[in-house]
Amino acid sequence: MSGPEPGVRVPDAEGRLTASGAAETEFRFCPTCGRGIDRRASFCQYCARALDESVPQSVYHEPISAGKRVLLYLCSLLIPMFGIALGIIYTDKDDEEHRSVGMKCLILGAISLIFVPTVLAAVMYVMVLGM
Ligand SMILES: [Zn+2]
Repeated sequence: MSGPEPGVRVPDAEGRLTASGAAETEFRFCPTCGRGIDRRASFCQYCARALDESVPQSVYHEPISAGKRVLLYLCSLLIPMFGIALGIIYTDKDDEEHRSVGMKCLILGAISLIFVPTVLAAVMYVMVLGM
């Protein structure tokens, strides 16, 4: 076990980090949890925070699967308030994928909000007059 060089702060909370040696791996400290992590890592391995130095503006998020997208779009069409609420939440997120899906849900919800009462009114109009 060779000690760390003077001035180099090596995290000692987790054994595997110090075991690899200070000379080979450069450490940085996670701004969120303060633990020592590999400088090349895109995410903090402890709290999953994205490290903005290596990936600017790219924040960790769960990818939206194709099936989930279709489901969200369908729900937005069927339940306008769902699409609008989801759209507001998603367009506020940091990643492009959520913003894109959120915007579509918002538009679909808005279309549905206008379209559904119109269709209902038309159907009722036809039913009342047609009989
Ligand atoms: Zn962290």
